[in-house]
Amino acid sequence: MLQAEKDRQSISRELVINWHVTEACNYACRYCYAKWDKPESRRELIHDWAGTTRLLQEVSAYFAPGSAAYPFAGAMDWTSVRLNLAGGEPLLYGQQVLRIAALARELGLGVSIITNGSLLTPVLAEGLAEHLSLLGVSLDSANRSTNRQIGRLDRRGRQVAPDTLEASLAAARRINPGLRLKINTVVNALNSDEDMTPLIRRLAPEKWKVLRMLPIVTTDLAVSDAQFCAFVQRHSGHGLPLRVEDNADMTESYIMIDPLGRFFQNADARGGYRYSLPIPRVGAGAAFAQTELSSSRYLARYSSAETVR
Ligand code: SF4
Repeated sequence: MLQAEKDRQSISRELVINWHVTEACNYACRYCYAKWDKPESRRELIHDWAGTTRLLQEVSAYFAPGSAAYPFAGAMDWTSVRLNLAGGEPLLYGQQVLRIAALARELGLGVSIITNGSLLTPVLAEGLAEHLSLLGVSLDSANRSTNRQIGRLDRRGRQVAPDTLEASLAAARRINPGLRLKINTVVNALNSDEDMTPLIRRLAPEKWKVLRMLPIVTTDLAVSDAQFCAFVQRHSGHGLPLRVEDNADMTESYIMIDPLGRFFQNADARGGYRYSLPIPRVGAGAAFAQTELSSSRYLARYSSAETVR
């Protein structure tokens, strides 16, 4: 078999499109750019159902398996497409997210969501569960004081209650037993000494993704290599589904859509971005042509199985 053919066959998996539906968040993590009620959040596409519908139709048709329009179609062999709804905090707009998830499913997309969990009530979890293949929850600590210092609380001082979260996850799993749970933890200067084993065991995710804080917004909670390695070591060998993700993996080539419905890509190593025109206005093909996505970086990412999940 030719090497090119082998390479082509090895790149056969789910194509993941991250739509950051909002920049707003009810938390204020010190290492994050998202903040509640930015003025521009009122212009976000999630408040415009006609535009949202057009975006979903465009994206589902353009990236459909076997689509000849998609420029990497010749080098990839994907069998499904998953829309990952991210933020900010997407569940600030829980009813819109429910509607988006339902329409995306109708259009043939898989759907996942990444949330801080604070607004995930058992009722909302039940409503979402039938549409989701993967639910991601970001949790950095089991300790209230640590969460408060990181900024993981809303303006009224409320934090995620583990009991409520556990009940919501149980409700979601009852509706959709095949739902996979992923927990994301950002290791930073305030949680790097913590043992999160009891919390992770209690929530029983299929995957626990451990990331090192990216010193883009601030360096004040940065951790050294030794601190990060110690955190990973402390949680290794206990049967936890821990996966370490490197910063370089995070900033490379996902297909990303911003809250205004534009494709965007990293333009430089300092965190700058390049944006297309809005997909609902010009269509997915014309917008994607403006991203100048590097095909080699992109395909390298998709040939590395674990980084896309
Ligand atoms: S919960 Fe997530 S989006 Fe919100 S401030 Fe924290 S890191 Fe940012």
